[in-house]
Amino acid sequence: MKHISYAGATYAPGKIVCVGRNYVEHIRELNNEIPEEPVLFIKPNSAIAEKLKLPAEKCRFEAEISLLVSGGAYVGVGFGLDLTLSEVQNRLKAKGLPWEKAKAFDGSAVFSPFVPCDNVSGLRLELWLNDQLQQTGGVELMIYRPEQLLTEIKRYFSLQDYDVIMTGTPQGVAELRAGDRLEGKIFNHDQLLTEQSWNVEKQ
Ligand code: ZN
Repeated sequence: MKHISYAGATYAPGKIVCVGRNYVEHIRELNNEIPEEPVLFIKPNSAIAEKLKLPAEKCRFEAEISLLVSGGAYVGVGFGLDLTLSEVQNRLKAKGLPWEKAKAFDGSAVFSPFVPCDNVSGLRLELWLNDQLQQTGGVELMIYRPEQLLTEIKRYFSLQDYDVIMTGTPQGVAELRAGDRLEGKIFNHDQLLTEQSWNVEKQ
């Protein structure tokens, strides 16, 4: 099993429940429609990786506030990268087919360490790409807030301890390139909670 770290210990999430199209400006940049209900998809435990490796096919990074669940509630937060094979996804979407090849492949979920967090309302993220601010956004800008997401997710999926919810990406997604340096940060208002940097590695 693959692991994440939380408060100094390691845990193996059974699954990652991801939210698509949760920020209006990001929906516009990809020419998608605003959803009538949350768009949910799942990455399996095998998608988790510590290192950021460049896939063989064209890949987009999406920075996401990632919430750790225990006892059916949010207990922690980390910075997550939802890696997406953009051309594969476009091909599948055009045919109305499932997205797993584009979204759930090995190494497609990369996380900072998670830290305890009992109030999610002030969370926001920053992604710095080669020392330039590339993505920023937070709970205030989400179409579906974390508590609404929890209710919707539980209608379909049992949440087990240490499952992770990825809450969608704000605008500013771009293609991952070899040699890039990505630095992700999660804040509660102005207080830095957790951060991690990665150098994109070739396969
Ligand atoms: Zn995403």
